[in-house]
Amino acid sequence: MQSTFCLFVQAISAYQNILLIGDDILLKVVKMIMRIVIDPGHGGSDPGAIYKQYREKDFNLKVSLLVRDYLQVSYDAEILMTRSSDKTMALKERTDFANARNADFFCSIHYNAAGGRGFESYIYNGTVPESTKQIQNVVHKEYMFTARKYGVIDRGQKRANFYVLRNTKMNALLLEVLFVDNEQDLKLILNDQFVRDVSKAIATGIAKALNLKAKPAPIPGVLYKVIAGSFKEEENAKERVLFLERNKVDSFIYPITIDGTKYYRVQAGAFSEKENADERVTALKRIGIADAFIVTEGTSVPAPPPEPVKGFTILGSSVVTAGNLQAFVKRVNPNAPNLASLYLEIGKKYGIRGDAAYAQAVHETNYFRYTGVVKPEQNNYAGIGATGPDEPGASFETPHEGVTAHIQHLYAYASKAGLPEGEKLVDPRFHLVTRGSAPTWVALNGKWAVPGTNYGQLILNIYERMIDLEMELINIQLDRLEKTKQQLD
Ligand SMILES: [Zn+2]
Repeated sequence: MQSTFCLFVQAISAYQNILLIGDDILLKVVKMIMRIVIDPGHGGSDPGAIYKQYREKDFNLKVSLLVRDYLQVSYDAEILMTRSSDKTMALKERTDFANARNADFFCSIHYNAAGGRGFESYIYNGTVPESTKQIQNVVHKEYMFTARKYGVIDRGQKRANFYVLRNTKMNALLLEVLFVDNEQDLKLILNDQFVRDVSKAIATGIAKALNLKAKPAPIPGVLYKVIAGSFKEEENAKERVLFLERNKVDSFIYPITIDGTKYYRVQAGAFSEKENADERVTALKRIGIADAFIVTEGTSVPAPPPEPVKGFTILGSSVVTAGNLQAFVKRVNPNAPNLASLYLEIGKKYGIRGDAAYAQAVHETNYFRYTGVVKPEQNNYAGIGATGPDEPGASFETPHEGVTAHIQHLYAYASKAGLPEGEKLVDPRFHLVTRGSAPTWVALNGKWAVPGTNYGQLILNIYERMIDLEMELINIQLDRLEKTKQQLD
């Protein structure tokens, strides 16, 4: 595109309604939308270069479609394809296509063969405007910037009398991506990451060279791909592409391996807006493709961080020592059993605050004086299953099992995870709990104890007094240490 002309049009754009009349070229320039033709070399009955089971035409198409997708998603430009399926197309048809549409840029994509390796780019070796050379230079460098990281050899910016370069009226470039018959190159050609990376590089190069305006991405980098069927047999995928072509829907096949199984996905559109993808799926269903679906690719907006749980959590570490937990209880009930260290030990295994659980046991058993329906020999320290005089609740063989059941019951409320490795389920009511429904002690209100409008608060009140005792005893100890130290002077 000639820049002076462009400025001229901008200057008189106030009159564009007049300019639009009967002049398609002018219309296009006024709109300032670049029209780009991507031309995947060969196709249909013309496979291009062949090596082993590989055909150049397929590689050309794959890169071309990726280039198209990248351009369409990221830039304001009109992207046209000479072919978007495995279709036979004469060279003249290709140049006629671009010329008839007054494209601004023509990019033919090929792979090389017969002696050599690496990348080269071509422009026409006759008279070309300076802009053609500039475009070649920018796209070539952009490609190599990415490809070099993969060890691709730069064969240089070349010129040749190729038909599509000679017979296109606009700036035209032909790329020879790599050599299909070179083992080192072939490894890269079959590497999906490489193909995606260089396709993106080509698209970026074209965008830079043509000064395309970047689209404001509604969701950065996200692409909603519409898959019009996914097949284990490539033949079935090809049939689907042909069916879509008959229904005037552009599509192409790309292979993908999921859990070790290779699928041939038929992609019929890629959109940066989910709505548009949904619309395409609906349209596909209308023509009888019931198995169309959408895959989301790229980085989505990071999910907002999960809301921190408000309140004192059940999950966590103990801070009060076993000795002081025990001392706290024995101030009220000197005959209380020594369970504190079991609470700390088992609580730690489950990631539960064993000291706070112990406070719960203190509350449930009234300092292990068992003034309720549960009897000491049940080893049921948290009233599991105890609802009244007729139902005194579960019994456990040993104190260890009783404490484990208590911790497991808390774990059921506080977490959705499975039991820690090697742990056996002993809580008979574990599966009756809606997992993760009470992450905090206060959230146990109305769940562990009914109605229990302040059940959690009562536990935390005991727990706070335990902490107070711990602090008090630590202060006494600090004091003793300090005084001892002073005696040393
Ligand atoms: Zn070729």
